[in-house]
Amino acid sequence: MALTITDVCINCDVCEPVCPNQAIFQGEEIYEIEPGKCTQCVGHFEQPQCIRVCPVECIIPSPRHPETAQQLLEKYRRLTSNVPAKTDTRDNNNLLFESG
Ligand code: SF4
Ligand code: SF4
Repeated sequence: MALTITDVCINCDVCEPVCPNQAIFQGEEIYEIEPGKCTQCVGHFEQPQCIRVCPVECIIPSPRHPETAQQLLEKYRRLTSNVPAKTDTRDNNNLLFESG
């Protein structure tokens, strides 16, 4: 599933440059993750690079964006091909929900 950043974020900016998908950006208050671009680093690294570098451990799986490993891999393939990625929205992402 895509990751999200909690309000514990101290805006240190170390996560943004390590994201291979350019999914992290400075939001109004704190850094944020674009769920349509976050693959949990699947396809690039064995573990999420943002979690690895965050000094305050404020990056967590987003309960709004549950995805299987296969779905993350498909997202990676979309992002790294020339096919436009489907844009995930924050509250209307039911197509990616698993039933069980
Ligand atoms: S898990 Fe990987 S792809 Fe997702 S925001 Fe963090 S660094 Fe970017
Ligand atoms: S590394 Fe953690 S504390 Fe620093 S900007 Fe990213 S989410 Fe916020």
